[in-house]
Amino acid sequence: MPGLKKIIIAIDGPAASGKSTTAKAVARALGYLHMDSGAMYRAMGLKALQAGIDPLDAVRIRPLIGVTSIKLQPSDGFNVVFLDNIDVTNQIRTPAVSNAASVVSSIPEVRVFMVNEQRALGATGGIVMDGRDIGTVVFPNAELKVFMIADPRERARRRQKELAEKGIKIDEDVLVAELLERDNRDSTRSASPLRKADDAVVLDTTALTIQQQVDAIVLRAMERMK
Ligand code: C5P
Repeated sequence: MPGLKKIIIAIDGPAASGKSTTAKAVARALGYLHMDSGAMYRAMGLKALQAGIDPLDAVRIRPLIGVTSIKLQPSDGFNVVFLDNIDVTNQIRTPAVSNAASVVSSIPEVRVFMVNEQRALGATGGIVMDGRDIGTVVFPNAELKVFMIADPRERARRRQKELAEKGIKIDEDVLVAELLERDNRDSTRSASPLRKADDAVVLDTTALTIQQQVDAIVLRAMERMK
């Protein structure tokens, strides 16, 4: 949009709160790039699993960092994820990789590596990035920060639907437990825990449609772009 400032929009929140879907649609509405930072941690989790390394084993994960390439490539509304130049976009969406990602993401050296990559992606503005620490650590000066929350049961239902579309069937109660465990791990780790930035706007999406979530963010973004 000519004449308007190209801003950075940071969207953080717990697992399955609708961040990526919303971020993607906001980016489309504004002609911005969408970057899913969680996909990068997922790729690192997958790398550990492929190497037969327990994601908890920080001593063996650390040396992997220097020999790993993780790239996000925006493509027609979604991010293609490359791990060591191989497209792993679908492979990183399994529950096993979700857990591995959440475990490896608590290793400080993994976070430093990711944050550097993410800052480079956002250097020119005009980006919507979603994750856990985007407003607090990656882009503390982002012009718009949104913290998305939703009731755990609603989040589990959304995740269940998403997995069912990929042919993966999981019980709702199992998903609630998995999401809460991941939220707890993400919020209590010492390196960049999941928390709302002081200047973030809270958006509870439990009873909102995706369009309503998108409209709420686009409206605020337009104000900040002036
Ligand atoms: O967003 P998504 O659920 O795909 O992220 C997978 C995992 O990656 C999260 O549970 C979290 O542990 C980690 N993550 C993170 N920081 C981010 C994005 C994701 O620690 N900015």
